[in-house]
Amino acid sequence: MDKQTLSFQAEVKQILHLVTHSLYSNKEIFLRELISNASDACDKLRFEALDKPELYEGQSELQVRVAFDATAKTITITDNGIGLSADEAVANLGTIAKSGTREFMSALQGDQKKDAQLIGQFGVGFYSGFIVADKITVESRRAGLPPEQGVRWTSEGAGDFEVETISRPERGTSVVLHLREGEEEFLSGWKLKSIVSKYSDHISLPILMQKEEWDAEAAKQVVKDEWAPVNKAAALWARPKSEITKEQYEEFYKQISYDTEAPLAYTHNRVEGRSEYTQLLYIPAKAPFDLWNRDKRGGVKLYVKRVFIMDDAEALMPVYLRFVKGVIDSSDLPLNVSRELLQESRDVKAIREGSSKRVLSMLEGLAESDDAAEKQKYADFWKDFGVVLKEGIGEDFANRERLTRLYRFSTTHDDGSVQNVSLTEYVARMKEGQDAIYYVTADTLATARNSPQLEIFKKKGIEVLLLTDRVDEWLLSHLYEFDGHALQSVAKGSVDLGKLEDEAEKKQAEEVATAFKPTLDRLKEALKGRAKDVRVTTRLVDSPACLVAEEGDMSGHLARLLKQSGQGAPKAEPILEVNAEHALVKRLESSAHFDDLANILFDQALLAEGGQLEDPASYVKRVNALLLA
Ligand code: ADP
Ligand code: MG
Repeated sequence: MDKQTLSFQAEVKQILHLVTHSLYSNKEIFLRELISNASDACDKLRFEALDKPELYEGQSELQVRVAFDATAKTITITDNGIGLSADEAVANLGTIAKSGTREFMSALQGDQKKDAQLIGQFGVGFYSGFIVADKITVESRRAGLPPEQGVRWTSEGAGDFEVETISRPERGTSVVLHLREGEEEFLSGWKLKSIVSKYSDHISLPILMQKEEWDAEAAKQVVKDEWAPVNKAAALWARPKSEITKEQYEEFYKQISYDTEAPLAYTHNRVEGRSEYTQLLYIPAKAPFDLWNRDKRGGVKLYVKRVFIMDDAEALMPVYLRFVKGVIDSSDLPLNVSRELLQESRDVKAIREGSSKRVLSMLEGLAESDDAAEKQKYADFWKDFGVVLKEGIGEDFANRERLTRLYRFSTTHDDGSVQNVSLTEYVARMKEGQDAIYYVTADTLATARNSPQLEIFKKKGIEVLLLTDRVDEWLLSHLYEFDGHALQSVAKGSVDLGKLEDEAEKKQAEEVATAFKPTLDRLKEALKGRAKDVRVTTRLVDSPACLVAEEGDMSGHLARLLKQSGQGAPKAEPILEVNAEHALVKRLESSAHFDDLANILFDQALLAEGGQLEDPASYVKRVNALLLA
């Protein structure tokens, strides 16, 4: 192939711009990224060579070399891994194939500091070289191709890059960074070594650098032609716990997660028994920008006997724990395990169950800690990840009970602005004679807190859960009982406060209902086709009316959610409940505008629960007519 000039994909140009403009405060990560690529390339070779050992070309000792040339002002990272063909160089270094890129781009805000954090989370990879270099040359040959099919890729990190065919006897890749003016601090063996040990100690291949010697005559360090490893080259998770410091655990987390913050908690164990594996799992302190995306694969890497097998092995964690990062290293799985095989494997199932339990234990450790700081960590965790953890109740049957105890809710106990009440706490506060756990669902906290159905509960001082997350309706379809107490909607069925209501109250309610019967019949007639029934209620104190769903029918809130998400919901008419003590309702009997008033009561009840009027114009007309009457 003759020399060709090609243009970067638009997203790459954007990333390049960001890299050179926002990542300035953390320049040294370029070395971590390039060493990580070199190590990935060796992992890939090792993996392909399982079937085709000839790819080693007689050299199976994989390694990475880091060198610098103070005169030429270059740093070179060389690996003898899988290498790149010319086509691969064009595709992999000119475009971004990662599926999350578009989402990532749209998450960028143009705020340098925040973007730098995001980009760190996403991982800029190869392009980070341009933080310190104004020109990068990559020379490579793919394992298995003849020496004449090597490739040279060059770019100054602006709009385009050049590729040409070269002859290259050695397999693998060299990345040469031509440093920018002012970046000479990286032309030091000491500096480079310290970066390697900070970021890349755990890389399980040897990272070699040339030895240096003090030349007294010249009064400077001279580089010798003798290479020695500068990293420990032992996978962190394979080392004994007692030898690993908190800093090392945290640094490893940052490397695998691209998070700039330390994790909230971690757990490191060697599991023995039917299935043998090591797990090192982390819970991040902050939610990633794409947490909501259930299709995003998990953050757990799979190794088999220290050999890297795959990133994002989603079969190792349930979907609701997709925020967990870490490594699982199995001793039992075959090295050539595929994603399909993982889904079926009993060993993987055992690993997933064991790992889920570990994660829940970590969370329980925080939630139930006596230490206020730890407890606060759980509150912070819940704020970011609670919605996702709620998905677990339907997904992880075995851990239902434990999950339920970890859930936190807004309630009427305080102003409800934070989800901080556990069901255990709720139950401990239940009133004498209260059997059920009461809840209300709504789109917003304000709607929930002010819903008319709550009035009697407020009056009697009974706590009610305020459920406003979209997943709550779904949660409720799986969580119907806790500690022997049924969960009961305040907007479903007739209120039966059971032993909480005294005999006198009950009797009075019955009398009112009888006396009010003729009006109820007229209301039913006026609201035919809108309300399936009209009845007198004791659940209202200040409001004239409210809507409730018949026991077994879908709540108005759930029907609206389904409609918003484009799913049709069977239309069930609600029941209108009226407060016979309310002045507006009393006026009904003698009103000359009975039908208008009846419909207004219904429409207002619908508005109060956050619903939408089917025919707002008629509502306005009716109200106006009454205002003028
Ligand atoms: P990532 O490592 O997350 O895939 P990078 O931007 O770091 O993204 O690298 C982009 C791609 O370039 C890699 O996926 C790989 O295909 C290729 N690449 C980079 N460095 C090397 C290398 N040293 N050897 C072989 N391929 C490489
Ligand atoms: Mg990379």
